[in-house]
Formats: sequence, structure tokens, C-alpha cells
Amino acid sequence: MTLHLKLENSYATLPARFYTAMAPTPVAAPALVKLNEALALELGLDPETLGSAEGVQMLAGNLVPEGATPLAQVYAGHQFGGFSPQLGDGRAILLGEVVDRNGRRRDIQLKGSGPTPYSRMGDGRAWLGPVLREYLVSEAMHALGIPTTRALAAVKTGEAVRREGAFPGAVLTRVAASHIRVGTFQYFAARNDAEALKALSDYVIARHYPDADGPLGLLEAVVAKQARLVAQWMGVGFIHGVMNTDNMAVSGETIDYGPCAFMDRYHPQTVFSSIDQYGRYAFDRQADIALWNLAQLASSLLPLMGGATQEAIDRATAVLHDFPTRFTAEWLAVFGPKIGLANAEAGDAQLIHTLLDRMAATGADFTNTFRALADGTARDQFPQPDAYDAWAVDWKARLAREPEGAGARMRAANPVVIPRNHRVEEVIRAGLRGDFAPFEQLAKVLAHPFEESSENAPYRTPPTPEERVTATFCGT
Ligand code: AMP
Ligand code: MG
Repeated sequence: MTLHLKLENSYATLPARFYTAMAPTPVAAPALVKLNEALALELGLDPETLGSAEGVQMLAGNLVPEGATPLAQVYAGHQFGGFSPQLGDGRAILLGEVVDRNGRRRDIQLKGSGPTPYSRMGDGRAWLGPVLREYLVSEAMHALGIPTTRALAAVKTGEAVRREGAFPGAVLTRVAASHIRVGTFQYFAARNDAEALKALSDYVIARHYPDADGPLGLLEAVVAKQARLVAQWMGVGFIHGVMNTDNMAVSGETIDYGPCAFMDRYHPQTVFSSIDQYGRYAFDRQADIALWNLAQLASSLLPLMGGATQEAIDRATAVLHDFPTRFTAEWLAVFGPKIGLANAEAGDAQLIHTLLDRMAATGADFTNTFRALADGTARDQFPQPDAYDAWAVDWKARLAREPEGAGARMRAANPVVIPRNHRVEEVIRAGLRGDFAPFEQLAKVLAHPFEESSENAPYRTPPTPEERVTATFCGT
């Protein structure tokens, strides 16, 4: 069979020690669960071809398009603070790249595509639950305007995957600006392979940061992207859950949706991941952890800055020291409009933090409270409304110094609907019964997160105590 789909692979032109060239492992009985037609068009791919029998074979890993150079990437990474010198695509294959309609090069990767030399003890597979979760959450993130990998398709494999029990196997087609991670740099740094580091750094600069001036410029660019990204996550109550250095993309996209979740009730120390015992990746630690990860990138780049000389260390350190200032500015740029502000004044951060503190103290719903500010109904979101009333006096005084249109600013910054965890779990349970109607409906509603509609009304309700999901599992 031949599938006429032209894939490039610029990563395959890097030295052989960057990857293992190999095809996905075929599966028994591919069946399409979902194809993202809008994304296919954006990529310049024909949805009809992708949805055809041959297209689905490709999306399941049974058919490699003619001329493609599929491969598994190698990387390293700090996982919960401990360094693993060798990780890699243990259950993913980069099929190739396309240049999309906007001229951007994008990776097409199959996740759940079978074992590779980097699988360690894993089976190389994914099951339907995490595939549906990643599809919904990554697409929701995109609709919220936050940089992220995308989901092009989900297929079932017709094979069982063993976890706590036997579950239907699935493959997600992930689309990314690239899959290069902080851990990719660490892999070569740990081996004192300056030649590879130089090739990687040149490649990343050419692909993502053409204006960056050398490795220091690259570091600056990645620092800026991460400061913005984490602020944006926080603006929608998102907890990544497993911010290991191998799960931080140097492109600045959110990547690796494992035990992630959006908060319902606001609390800064919220943790969802069942494996994050010490709260390393709690909601309000995400900026600190991003900086910690960026420090790993900086030290990996040192050999390219003239080695670990005092001068190189000072220059890299100065870039890292910029992060907190950048993050604070990005955080204000995200949260200011959430309370209707167009301009910045001293005291704004304090005003926002006071609101957040009161939300935390009373367990107010993060998404609904911010949205209700625009409608004048935020008071109802507080179990003890006095906490809100006192704050609202200061807020209204502050808004009086702002231009018209605070309501519109708030409605553009505060989504109505987010992928609430209990809804995602409900969709997964239905999917396991073979019913994908709830998945379709949730995906549809999440595509327009800022518009209030009768269709999304049921999805705005926070979970009841019985529905509340307190932990998510590692997404494997
Ligand atoms: P994560 O923290 O989930 O991003 O994964 C960490 C490492 O484990 C990566 O190198 C993955 O490729 C690998 N991995 C995760 N799940 C599996 C699996 N089921 N089979 C093989 N490798 C896996
Ligand atoms: Mg990962």
C-alpha cells in the first residue's frame, strides 16, 4: 500500500546518536476514534485521506508513508529531581514533519506506537483513557490560547494494554512545534558531547529562534517563553503535574499531558498527580520549578559558551535571574485583564492576590469566580460572601481608574468552560463502554471556551463532593 502523504524529517539529518531510526510496531485492528479535521487542514493534510482505511492504518502505526524516515528520539531528564541519564521516546515514534499553511514546521508523532530501545520496563503502549484525556486537554488548551502540542487523531488498536487491569489500547497522533526537550540538551551534556550540543543548539535556533544570538540568546528565548507559558497556565488554573525536564519543550509549548488537571476550587497548593507525594509540582510551585528546569538547560549549554568559566556562568546566571521578574510581569499581564484591568498600577498584584487568598480561604471555584466578576455575580461564588464584599470595594475603586470595557476584557480573559476533571473522567468511562458521544460533545464545547451558550451550560457546574476527582494517575 502507498499513502500519498509527503513527510519530511529534518531531525533525521542530525547525527545518528540523536535517535534510533525505526518504524512503529503494527497493531491488530486499527479503528478511528477521532480525527481533528480542522487541524488536518491547518497542516495542509487532507482529512479524507487521513480518515480513509489507509490513513487510519498510518495513524495506528501499521503503515509508514512512502519516503518517510520514522524515528524514536533520545533524551535524558530530571524526574522529580533525580537525574535519569537516558530516557527517550519509549512509546512514541516521530513519523515526520510537515510545513503547515502558515509556514511553520510541525512534528507528527505517534504516541503509544510500541516499544523502542528507550522503553526500559514499559510496553511502549498507551490505553484509551490517557489518549482521550490528552486529546481533550491539549485541544482545550489551544482553544484557550495557550501554546501547546495538539491532537490530530485518536485510534484504537484492537489490542489490550495491561495496567491495573486490561484496557483497550490506543494511539494518539501528536502534533508539536518540535519534541525537543530540556532533557535533550541534558542527554548530550551528561556525555560531554560538545559536538552534539552544538548541532542541537544550531538546530533549535534555526527551527524555533532564528533571531537568537548563539546559546546565550537561545537560553534567553526559552526563559522568556517559559515565563509566559507558566503564567498562562496559572491564569486558567492548570496544573501540569509532572514538570520533569524531559517534559519541558524548548519550543515553549505545553507538552506531555499525564497527570495534569484544571482546578475546580482554588487552592494554591493543589496537587493532582498521585505520584507527586511531596507537592513538588503543585499549582503555585510551577514558576519555581520552571526556573529549576531552566537552570538545567543553562548548565547543559555552558560548554557552548566557552565552557564552565566564571564569565560564562555569570552570563547564564544573569539570564536565569531575570526569570522571576519576567514571570511576575507575565503573571500580571495574564491576571490584570482577568479582573478587568487594561493598565498597570502599583498595587495591582496585591489586589489580585487578595482576591485569590479569599478564594482559597473559602474554596471558591476558580473558573466560575473569575467569569462571574464580569457579570457582577462573583459574590455568589463565595460560601462566605463577606470575604468578597470587602475586596470588591477596593476592586471597584481601582476599576474606576480604568477605561471603559472592563466587562468585555474580563469575558475575553476568563473562560466559561474548562475541561473539568470529573467530566474528563466521565468521558473516559463512556469511551471504555464504546460510547464516544460524551467525548464528542465535550470536545465540541471546549473548542469555544469563552462563549456562554446553552450547550456549554451543563459543563460549567463544578463537581459535587461525590464527583470530585482528587488524583490523576500517571497517564500511562
Ligand atoms: P513521562 O514522565 O510519562 O513523560 O515518561 C517518562 C519516560 O518513560 C519517557 O522516556 C517515556 O517514553 C517512558 N514511558 C512512559 N510510559 C511508557 C510505556 N508505557 N512504555 C515505554 N516507555 C514509557
Ligand atoms: Mg514525557
